[in-house]
Amino acid sequence: MSQQLFTLDYLDTPPTAVAGAEPAQDVRVSPATRTGRQRKLYIESYGCQMNFSDSEIVSSILFDEGFDTTEQLADADLVLLNTCSIREKAEQTVRMRLSQINSHKKRNPGMLVGVLGCMAERLKSKFLEEEKLVDLVVGPDAYRDLPNLIREVDGGQKAVNVLLSRDETYADITPVRLNSNGITAFVSIMRGCDNMCSFCVVPFTRGRERSRDAHSIEQECRDLVAQGYKEVTLLGQNVDSYKWASEDGTEHVNFAQLLERVARISPELRVRFSTSHPKDITDEVLYTMGRYENICKYIHLPAQSGNSRILKLMNRTYDRAWYEERVQAIRRILGPECAISTDMISGFCSETEEEHQDTLSLIDWVQYDMAYMFFYSERPGTLAARKLEDDIPLDVKKRRLQEIIDLQQKSSFARNQQAVGKVHRVLVENFSKRSQEHLSGRNSQNQVVIFPKKHYKKGDYVNVFVHTGTGGSLLGDAVE
Ligand code: SF4
Repeated sequence: MSQQLFTLDYLDTPPTAVAGAEPAQDVRVSPATRTGRQRKLYIESYGCQMNFSDSEIVSSILFDEGFDTTEQLADADLVLLNTCSIREKAEQTVRMRLSQINSHKKRNPGMLVGVLGCMAERLKSKFLEEEKLVDLVVGPDAYRDLPNLIREVDGGQKAVNVLLSRDETYADITPVRLNSNGITAFVSIMRGCDNMCSFCVVPFTRGRERSRDAHSIEQECRDLVAQGYKEVTLLGQNVDSYKWASEDGTEHVNFAQLLERVARISPELRVRFSTSHPKDITDEVLYTMGRYENICKYIHLPAQSGNSRILKLMNRTYDRAWYEERVQAIRRILGPECAISTDMISGFCSETEEEHQDTLSLIDWVQYDMAYMFFYSERPGTLAARKLEDDIPLDVKKRRLQEIIDLQQKSSFARNQQAVGKVHRVLVENFSKRSQEHLSGRNSQNQVVIFPKKHYKKGDYVNVFVHTGTGGSLLGDAVE
């Protein structure tokens, strides 16, 4: 395979979330960096926070290669789409975007177009056959190779690197903060996933689980504090299975210990994390959260279904009783005000009406603050696609999804009512979307709080007395 750089095999042997509605495809465009570098990078990120965090790593790698980022697609020398493959809809969105980019490429034939992320990893070189304008296909573990691949494309070839790695964590790369409000930042602590949920492509598109060096995570958080950031979100597909050991084996760090290390950096640094897994979240993590005021009292705990037979078919490795016991542990150790959000799938293979009712009853029992809700979308190559029939009619999937959304909206509204009449410590992130006279931030429970700005500004911690709770946010006034 002379000219084309193809490595197809596994080296050695997968969001504002509106309480209720299915969130729109979240797209972020990189802000401009003007350092006089001769080439311009335009990067769009789709899907989960891991992808946004990866786009910051990619921008850093290319920054060192002479690329400034631009927000203007038309000005770009290199256009990169960091893609998501979690549902068919996510891939359709990318294909539509590529057809729009095609008109820019026609006007600027020198423009290079590349696809990154999970869809690139799933399709590999087939992407080049299916989308002729694409020059570059790079999987989530091959971003260090981007400079070489771009040189290949500059030489007139197509380039693909979809090697998955067992140890790549990009620990030594300082991300270029994209779309940053200068207050909150994502910090990736691990990559890949060893769970094999039968509906999920992530283990195939992001590879096996590996935890990042705890010291490099701490250092990245210290650097962020030094730059004035006030909140970090520790990211992983399943943060609870984080475990790192030093090469000499003298140091072992699990997730609870990592949380404590980051919380101790500064009491002014808020710490959040996502995503937890019901089978791995430990009481040790919950007690650690309870010991530090600056570890936010919010847990994203995907259930996916409320029925044990369906959870078994999903290979979630826990049943309804186990999940309930974990929720009770959260309530017991962190109190009823600790916020819990979740992911729910409606219409999974062979799901009966009664089993759907179990999902509704779980939502009713937990009273989630927020949820990401979707109907089952069969993903090629997954266990479910290979072993189970996608037999629930689309209209039934959609009707069940709407019932889940309607019930969740009631739960979110009720949870927001419980926040009324109390004072919340809010970290100001920005002006409210609707008025420059109001500021917007979040409390420890990750609820959005909006209040008149007075003399406060971005980055301030403000005590806000909440007088109103809506379905999606809290309204209040600053109190001294
Ligand atoms: S835990 Fe399951 S759903 Fe989540 S990324 Fe891993 S395989 Fe996918």
